[in-house]
Amino acid sequence: MKISLKRLAAAISAAAMTAVSTGTALAPAEAADTVFPLKVEGENMKGADTWTSVYETQIPGYSGEGFAYIQAGDISFNVTVPEDGMYSVHGMVAQVLNQEGRTETLDVNGKKYVTVVPYLDKWTDFDFGTVRLNKGENTISFTGSYGYMELDYATVTVAEPHDYAKASGVCCDPRATKETQSLMSYLKSVYGKNILTGQQEIYGSGHKDNYEWENDFIKDLTGKVPAVRGLDFMNYNPLYGWDDGTTERAIAWAKERNGILTASWHINVPIDFENYTLGDEVDWQKCTYKNYQASNGTFNTANVIKEGTKEREYFEEAMKLLAEQLGKLQDENVPIIFRPLHEAQGNDGRYGDGTAWFWWGDRGAEVYKELWKLLYTTLTEEYGLHNIIWEFNAYELPSSPDWYPGDEYVDIIAYDKYNANGGPNLSAISDVFNALYNMTDGGKMIAMAENDTIPAVDNMTVEDAYWLYVCPWYDGGEDGGVAFLGENYQDYDEFKKFYQSDVAITLDELPEDLYTSGGTSEPATKPATTPAEENTTVPVTTVSSTGSSSDTFYGDANLDKKITVADAVAVLQYIANQNKYALSEQALINADIDGEAGITGGDAITIQKVDAGLVKQTALPLKAGK
Ligand code: CA
Repeated sequence: MKISLKRLAAAISAAAMTAVSTGTALAPAEAADTVFPLKVEGENMKGADTWTSVYETQIPGYSGEGFAYIQAGDISFNVTVPEDGMYSVHGMVAQVLNQEGRTETLDVNGKKYVTVVPYLDKWTDFDFGTVRLNKGENTISFTGSYGYMELDYATVTVAEPHDYAKASGVCCDPRATKETQSLMSYLKSVYGKNILTGQQEIYGSGHKDNYEWENDFIKDLTGKVPAVRGLDFMNYNPLYGWDDGTTERAIAWAKERNGILTASWHINVPIDFENYTLGDEVDWQKCTYKNYQASNGTFNTANVIKEGTKEREYFEEAMKLLAEQLGKLQDENVPIIFRPLHEAQGNDGRYGDGTAWFWWGDRGAEVYKELWKLLYTTLTEEYGLHNIIWEFNAYELPSSPDWYPGDEYVDIIAYDKYNANGGPNLSAISDVFNALYNMTDGGKMIAMAENDTIPAVDNMTVEDAYWLYVCPWYDGGEDGGVAFLGENYQDYDEFKKFYQSDVAITLDELPEDLYTSGGTSEPATKPATTPAEENTTVPVTTVSSTGSSSDTFYGDANLDKKITVADAVAVLQYIANQNKYALSEQALINADIDGEAGITGGDAITIQKVDAGLVKQTALPLKAGK
């Protein structure tokens, strides 16, 4: 059984606490039976004095005896919690020093949460974020870095768990192939319950042409093989085109081993683009995927989105070669999670110089989004590729939403985690997960598309950071590269614990019908039974003023007496091609579930919501008179 009972229990108790403790009664911070929400007056915190005005500035309306004025020193309070879990910290604050906002730092058991508090001359409830507290006593500090903020009081509540069911399980490409939508449906069915294991393969001639090196290593270590294989289409390019068999390995992984594929595309450009003639071969050492600043290159990314430029012609050729390979996958009915133009925001905002790692991000967000759309449109419309699940690499910075191409171009949001310095880093980086979740209000699944250390499984579950999959980068150890599977990056005990846990899904646990009906016939996972789900197993027998017969079971588009993602797939296929994927008269009645007449994408979405337990199937008969 693959349920996280711990997380379920945490969610239930969080909901219960929120429901019963709506009061703001002051509880002693030291009490073992802390009542939430916990309210602590600023002036009562350790290290605080009681202020009633800041020099001449009056801020009336404070609660208690006054407020704390955080200057160079920290003020803190303790909170005792019964279980490890996620909590939300708010402050009733004012900040009258900086018109442009002031950076403030919350410290929770030594972990820093940095935020910017705007100019506020009235007491204002400010969300300092979701933080992890551990069983027992915890210390929360408002630090003196940079300080000079007024704090009337702070509140701590149990954080609401993420609503993973909100994530779309329908491909953004309305013409996605049956296999692609099936894979998407499977991903959605495990998202928030499980975490898929993944591994980037060595490419080129690394590890003496042993492309299974990473998988062999992991099998030796854990007894299991990862479910997701990461590849890179970088070597199919117009410059030094070098077929290292990536496409053939991809097809074999999906067809022979029933695995899941993902790929990036480190597409190169000639450094001396100015003097480059289209069609010429260029030695790989004179190519780059870095930004023009770092490479001193002359490729102008802004020209790619302008027709008639040499950059555009070059990119068209690169897309053509890429499409050839993706087309081979489509011909074999193999879908792929494709993550092109990745890490576009690169180091933007981190070093203040506005540059990005890669050329596709080096002219800023607006050019980047156009580039993404050009690639999407060309692959889908010009080359007819509908075997792609589109994955966008995001960052957690305040400016990161500016880079998001849009819901209609993206299926999965991903983050590449590299934070191990001088040893493994087991953090679940739940603050990053939360930022990515908020980017689309939970509307897209979130994956860790590349990483160094695999986070500790307990960190991911306790911190409610259920990354769709994790995928360490390849191990280049023997060949002079970074050994991402070496002990400097991986904690082998935690690696094994994750792979052998009920949360992780390995290759052997993928369902046989992964590419046919979204893993519904042989579930690798047995989702937690919810009351809503129990409802879906009992056909509705009494309906209603719509005149439907007693055979009607709204949502059951494939007439198997159950509501699963397979029904949503059936609806989407019908919409895409009514001749090829016809539905019977009863199936059409069943499928029309969303209260709007006619079979539309809304019906597929509603079916998925029913399947996820978000809405009750019995509450969804058609609106009368339609
Ligand atoms: Ca107060």
